[in-house]
Amino acid sequence: MNKNEWYRKIPKVDVLLDQEEVQTLISKYGRDVTMRSIRLELERLRIWMGKAENLEEEIKESLETDFVKELISKVKKSVENQFQFHMIPVLNGTGTILHTNLGRAPIGQRHMDQVAKIATGYSNLEYNLETGKRGQRYAHFEELLCEITGAESAMAVNNNAAAVMLILASLGKGKEIIVSRGELVEIGGKFRIPDVMEISGAKLKEVGTTNKTHLSDYENGISEVTGGLLKVHTSNYKIVGFTQSVPLEEVVELGKQREIPVIEDLGSGVFIDLGKYGMCSEPTVQASISKGVDVVCFSGDKLFGGPQAGIIVGKKKYIDKMKENQLTRALRIDKFTAAALEVVLQEYLSEETAIKNIPALHMLTKTLEEITAEVEMLAHMLKEKEGASQLHICVASCESQIGGGALPVEQLWSKGLVIKPLHMSVESYEEKMRQQPVPIIGRIMDGAIWLDGRTLDKKDFPLLCSELAGI
Ligand SMILES: *Cc1c(COP(=O)(O)O)cnc(C)c1O
Repeated sequence: MNKNEWYRKIPKVDVLLDQEEVQTLISKYGRDVTMRSIRLELERLRIWMGKAENLEEEIKESLETDFVKELISKVKKSVENQFQFHMIPVLNGTGTILHTNLGRAPIGQRHMDQVAKIATGYSNLEYNLETGKRGQRYAHFEELLCEITGAESAMAVNNNAAAVMLILASLGKGKEIIVSRGELVEIGGKFRIPDVMEISGAKLKEVGTTNKTHLSDYENGISEVTGGLLKVHTSNYKIVGFTQSVPLEEVVELGKQREIPVIEDLGSGVFIDLGKYGMCSEPTVQASISKGVDVVCFSGDKLFGGPQAGIIVGKKKYIDKMKENQLTRALRIDKFTAAALEVVLQEYLSEETAIKNIPALHMLTKTLEEITAEVEMLAHMLKEKEGASQLHICVASCESQIGGGALPVEQLWSKGLVIKPLHMSVESYEEKMRQQPVPIIGRIMDGAIWLDGRTLDKKDFPLLCSELAGI
């Protein structure tokens, strides 16, 4: 057969449309997407045939000679592919609770149910039901935030980077903001205090040195153009040795004397004293407010355990300035975030509920005994599986990380499932773990794969086991 004869064998669109399988695709996914795929696959076939030098041979080698069958299978694949989600859940076995690449803090189901209720219909997002007039989107959670932190006023923006920018733009535009050189941090995702400062229109005035800053450095830095004193919680590193930073109380006292607002970027922002749970105490938001800091900001999706947001609390006169700033319009939170903040904040009305119902806090405060029992159960379940004979499985001690820049030097003992594949390299096994329908993300350490029990959820164990054993 010559090329033209082959071309003539390419089925017409109508012929394909008549096929039962194509009709099924149309009723399931819709006509437009199916038609597009049909045209695309037909075009591909024509191009391929045009390029083929020895068509007869190549068709025999790579195609079924039944073009209709061949095309239908391609169209089906192409349509189905377009309806596969690109963003999918994964199982986090890394032991990093606030893993920015894996979406930081997971939200509780009850919290998400509330968001769904608000988002799927109309709400009083910016509507005051008492007066019938326009309301504030912050009204839904401002009181809760004030009650929990002791602040006078509160608001929230898109994320903490936006919060820092808004604070600086509102209090420091055209002025200088004083920061210790020991706190000029860069945190993940290229957030650098000096750069954010520049965009905000405030001028950075660095004082002190990397390892030591004294109160007198702040004092000498103050002039008539000073717009604020900024403290940044150096959340993702610690300078140890010959160091000195000025205690918050002293900076606050200085700010008061000179009538300059003191701003603190807490980064992770916790409401709960973690010292009670055997960790070194991370400064709480309430502590900063009670020490008299004028404006405090922190992330919504770090240890707070809620949606992505930048939460700002502090003195009303400063927060009002931010609410009125035009930037706020560009950085504002949506209704999903407002709803999620409200429901998560309610959990904080009692510490016990917060620890139980906020997934990030629950994982953080899991005891070693709990984790050990869970990982041993997981190991047992996995060993029962048929495919597990190809794996060496044991349980061993490891260390979890909080992540998100919080408590960088905290040692968080945990237990992990350690897997050594017997007939495959650790690297290829790990790669296959990532290619599972629900990908499993672990760590490779000492020639084995480690799955930290702290960040895994018991309810996922059956799935985890069948995926691991099936590789
Ligand atoms: C994480 C962090 C930020 C940025 O917060 P995002 O919510 O990620 O924008 C800012 N400052 C500090 C100190 C942080 O740790």
